[in-house]
Amino acid sequence: MLRLYTHPACLQHDPGPGHVERPARLQAVLQALDHDRFAALDRIEAPRVTREQLQRVHSAAHISEVLLGAPAGEMLALDPDTVMGPGSTEAALRAAGAVVAAVDAVLGGEARRAFCAVRPPGHHATRELAMGFCLFNNVAVGAAHALAAYGLKRVAIADFDVHHGNGTQDIFEREPRVLFASSHQSPLYPDSGRKDERGVGNIVNGTLSPGAGSHEFRELWEGVLLPRLHAFKPQLVLVSAGFDAHRNDPLADIRLGSEDYAWITERLAALADAHADGRMVSTLEGGYDRGALAACVGAHVGALIG
Ligand SMILES: [Zn+2]
Repeated sequence: MLRLYTHPACLQHDPGPGHVERPARLQAVLQALDHDRFAALDRIEAPRVTREQLQRVHSAAHISEVLLGAPAGEMLALDPDTVMGPGSTEAALRAAGAVVAAVDAVLGGEARRAFCAVRPPGHHATRELAMGFCLFNNVAVGAAHALAAYGLKRVAIADFDVHHGNGTQDIFEREPRVLFASSHQSPLYPDSGRKDERGVGNIVNGTLSPGAGSHEFRELWEGVLLPRLHAFKPQLVLVSAGFDAHRNDPLADIRLGSEDYAWITERLAALADAHADGRMVSTLEGGYDRGALAACVGAHVGALIG
């Protein structure tokens, strides 16, 4: 049984007119999942993350800034791309809370796999800073919860968003219990994620040149990232599932199709099956062409269902 975590509040985060990270993205995702082939999804309303859960990965100052949010009737720009409106704090709390609840469900044996259909995304948020459309680092909060509340010794985070998950790397680069493996376009925002950024041996960055497609993506995962993930023998597999490496995406120049997302999802599910009793939590990150995003999430969730 696949659990789907989401919350209506995630549709109420509006970074302003013309912003690419808009509520319609999540509407497209939920619409794609509102289909007969996904009828068996176990749909759960995401709870709010707690301050204690956030404090494992974010500074008190950063948490307070997001909790305070935008002044009444105004927008608050935390960086030029990362803007809070009236619904943003609640959306951020539910997005991170979804991943914590999903981790509880798979580690508590209630479900084998879960997908969190949430926004704002998370993987650019560092310990100290909101950036790149991200307020809290949802997946990092989930990983830290698995370490702190369950005593896990090996948690893998696989990140196939087209951008480097600099925030996740920042949070865990000195934490050997977390292995972070990322494929991303280079050069591209946020200009980090070089192969020689290795943390304490727990960071594995794989880069794709502009114009790369299915062949290069699969070669990178099969040749470099998946072998490292298997060698780590994770007890839990978390996925930062961004779909902006699709060929139609306006923010990048990688040429994947939805079938590539089914492929990587099957490989990551096999990783979880081999080492983690199947326990896997995937969370939405980027993806800015709504048609492509809907098709890719359909392929991803279809592969998660198996
Ligand atoms: Zn992205």
